[in-house]
Amino acid sequence: MKLHLSWVSAAFLTVFSASVALAAPGAVHCGELLDVRSGRMMSDQVVMFDARGIITSVAAFSSTTLPAGSSTVDLSGATCLPGLIDVHTHLTHDPEYSGYKNLGVSVPRSTVTGVKNARLTLLAGFTTVRNVGAKGYSDVAVRDGINAGEIPGPRMLVSGPPLGITGGHCDDNLLAYEYHHTAEGVADGPWAAREKVRETVKYGADVIKVCASGGVLSKGDLPNAPQYSLEEMQAIVTEAHKLGRKVAAHAHGTQSIKDAIRAGIDSIEHASLIDDEGIALAKQHGTFLVFDIYNDDYILSMGEKVGMLPESIEKEKTIGRMQRENFRKAFQAGAKLAFGTDSGVYPHGENARQFAKMVEWGMKPVDAIQAATINAAELLGWSGKVGELSEGHFADLIAVDGDPLSDIKTLENVRFVMKGGTVVKNELK
Ligand SMILES: [Zn+2]
Repeated sequence: MKLHLSWVSAAFLTVFSASVALAAPGAVHCGELLDVRSGRMMSDQVVMFDARGIITSVAAFSSTTLPAGSSTVDLSGATCLPGLIDVHTHLTHDPEYSGYKNLGVSVPRSTVTGVKNARLTLLAGFTTVRNVGAKGYSDVAVRDGINAGEIPGPRMLVSGPPLGITGGHCDDNLLAYEYHHTAEGVADGPWAAREKVRETVKYGADVIKVCASGGVLSKGDLPNAPQYSLEEMQAIVTEAHKLGRKVAAHAHGTQSIKDAIRAGIDSIEHASLIDDEGIALAKQHGTFLVFDIYNDDYILSMGEKVGMLPESIEKEKTIGRMQRENFRKAFQAGAKLAFGTDSGVYPHGENARQFAKMVEWGMKPVDAIQAATINAAELLGWSGKVGELSEGHFADLIAVDGDPLSDIKTLENVRFVMKGGTVVKNELK
């Protein structure tokens, strides 16, 4: 195998071999450790984990006896946090594939892009992602490659192709009629939509993504216009929940957000034009809101250069600022918020840039960190597995220099990453 890997960079090999190495029990000694649930910083802690990469204890260094033969990572000069979670990624898409250029990208090529971006995302400190929308089942392939230990990457929940109406945000509206091209997730009417849920589950989806309203990076649709009807979304939710899958709805529009919540959808993505009634409904139903409030900066500064349609940039101008204002409103009203960035719209690996935006628009750093840890884990249905450094959770741990509670931007420079007890990055040696 080594013979064939001569072209791979040394950095990649380090990650690759680490990720496939058999796990061994071990420990991490943290100078500071953030208990994300209480928001308290704890000094001089040791995180111990077993050979399965699961945390067995977190305790003060002074009261810990390190088991003989276990290897301890010394992070006594750094601050440890649980691995971060981004609940809205598109690992198999890059911004350079925007607009018409996307038509020339095959599903196999998208998969290769996903392999590249899975690694970048993991090295940025995101040890879990929910990938909501991919060409074909490229995201299923990336997830399965990671789980098999063949490529480095975060734990992934994936949706496969997103469900949407004919001519909607999740159709592909770039080609003229005579090409007879329809995106693979298009299904109109309650029963066709139910069948599409069954199909995506058949081919590996962990979660169902639907497009409830129009969007920004699509042709000929309006972000505030409803697409799926309440009746169609009720059918999708009933079918998905029956099959043990949650549903995430892309919804910018005021009415679509309310319809999606009333239909029982588990998370509203973007939520740009949510009103007071929508916020109250989300609270009442326990629906998570996922405001991707960083990428507006990227779309407005780089969109034209990477080939986004002029109409997309115009649409972003009309809703970008309102989305940020509504994020602040929803947070102040006490709605449940999870951290999701829409990576792929902007370059992968820069996910943590959204934290500073969340703080700029009303959160304390600890709130933003909770959105990307315990709240995100709850949305994924993975509480008890990820998002916390405590007994029974995966030993997914990151470290930064300095104190993220006083400077949230430290999370943009993650120096150490461990996934399931295996070190995948260590700049603190
Ligand atoms: Zn998206």
